[in-house]
Amino acid sequence: MSRLLLKGGRVIDPAQGLDATLDVMIAEGTIEEVGPRVQGRGAQVLEVKGLVVCPGFIDLHTHLREPGREDKETIATGTRAAAAGGFTAVCAMPNTDPVNDTAGITRAIVERARADGAVRVYPIGAITRGQQGEELAEYGDLKEAGCVAFSDDGKPVASARVMRRALEYAKAFDLAIIDHCEEPTLAEKACMNEGPVSTVLGLRGQPAAGEAIMVERDVLLAELVGGRVHIAHLSAAASVDAVRRGKARGVRVTAEVTPHHLFLTDEAVRETGYDTNTKMNPPLRSEADREAVLAGLRDGTIDCIATDHAPHTVDDKKVEYDHAANGIVGLETAVALCLDRLVGAGLLELPYLVALLSANPARVLGLPGGTLAPGSPADLTLLDLAKKRQVDPTRFESRSRNTPFGGWILKGWPAMTIVAGRVAWKDAR
Ligand SMILES: [Zn+2]
Ligand SMILES: [Zn+2]
Repeated sequence: MSRLLLKGGRVIDPAQGLDATLDVMIAEGTIEEVGPRVQGRGAQVLEVKGLVVCPGFIDLHTHLREPGREDKETIATGTRAAAAGGFTAVCAMPNTDPVNDTAGITRAIVERARADGAVRVYPIGAITRGQQGEELAEYGDLKEAGCVAFSDDGKPVASARVMRRALEYAKAFDLAIIDHCEEPTLAEKACMNEGPVSTVLGLRGQPAAGEAIMVERDVLLAELVGGRVHIAHLSAAASVDAVRRGKARGVRVTAEVTPHHLFLTDEAVRETGYDTNTKMNPPLRSEADREAVLAGLRDGTIDCIATDHAPHTVDDKKVEYDHAANGIVGLETAVALCLDRLVGAGLLELPYLVALLSANPARVLGLPGGTLAPGSPADLTLLDLAKKRQVDPTRFESRSRNTPFGGWILKGWPAMTIVAGRVAWKDAR
């Protein structure tokens, strides 16, 4: 029987209200005991004094690109990037090639993840067949094969009628719809946020209102049918407001924000001289939007932080701004960015950030983990708050390098990732 004892770390488990120097005993892939001076009883002992021990971080929004674009990322490289970024589980978006809209594809992903994955992979099934926005996929089959939610991420569901039916159908299986909110007629041919910066740069923008219109619509539809909607990568002040009002009415709405929408604005497009690593969808917004999103994160309107890890090849990014692919890699920078720019900056307490990355995402989709309570899966993220390092994309585990954060010096980094009681990654630098 394999046993592992983590000794002397600062254990933070928001689900149990714990923040103290404690030991953690892991047996057979499960948390056995958390307490002061736990006896070794033949376990392998890891001294973790000086490190923070947290429930494993869960990313609700990852693009692993396999099947179909293994030149950008594979399940093996993407999950290694997750482990190196402090995540013990990722939810895999279905916009692969082929789209994950049938049980056979879901099963293939689950099997590949079991064989090659450094961390847990929870597939997300498509809302509609081929993500075409018309016919619903077979949610029962997808759930049985392992899907934990449904999303047409990358594309909005343009039809309110289809979204209504999706929310009703997913409700029958008690699963959430993860919503990429973008009013398509307002976003046509846009490559950045619409505002003073897009005007100066002469680039076509999409207004923040185009996101908020869809958030409003789908909060209303979730209310109408009693379904569960989770707003992906929320980026606009008016969207925060729509979620806040929906929650106040008791609508089953949750939301996530990405680090890039918390720490960058559309000014980055100008400042970097059209660096295509500032191009994503939703686009980087205005400073007022950024501040509103941060306020929504602090007051509990936004439930969790998710990466929207979107690897692309150099060829897909080294083109004119309006032709470049949308998205950036995020798994290996998210935790350090949040430790430095939120906790280090005094904007969030550390236990609150840990909840945003563990207990809350687990609750949003009803996933295992998110706590160190005895009997829970032994998925843990260890942090070194004192470590200071520059973001170096050449050393990413991800197959791709597309990040706007290269060269940023950040304090506070993941130190170790444990999945099912085994060390999945350890900082060797
Ligand atoms: Zn999206
Ligand atoms: Zn996405």
